[in-house]
Amino acid sequence: MRKERLAQFRKKLEEKHRQLVEEVGKTVLYAKGPEDDSIKDLGDQASSAYNREFLFELGNGDRRLLKEVVAALQKLDAGGFGACERCGEPIAEKRLEALPFARYCIGCQRAVEEEERTAAG
Ligand SMILES: [Zn+2]
Repeated sequence: MRKERLAQFRKKLEEKHRQLVEEVGKTVLYAKGPEDDSIKDLGDQASSAYNREFLFELGNGDRRLLKEVVAALQKLDAGGFGACERCGEPIAEKRLEALPFARYCIGCQRAVEEEERTAAG
């Protein structure tokens, strides 16, 4: 993928990240009270193992999404962005435009969801 395209996706992801940190931060604020100063560090910590667990315990949809966004940003840094994590094929750019944090190509996404359903049932 071209550098300019990657920069566009990074911008989208960073924007989404900021939104989600704000949302999750509000949840933390609500749960713990305004004197808790962990909120301002949340963005910095979002990729740490501790915070992943912490966010997991929040138990809402936002923290799951935040994890995906952080993972996508890490892939942008590491150079694996845009490749399906399951089959390794490039994810369609149209799909990435709608879901810049997508981990799988559309075919694998369906397969993974099917596997999750099977595992849950
Ligand atoms: Zn795939």
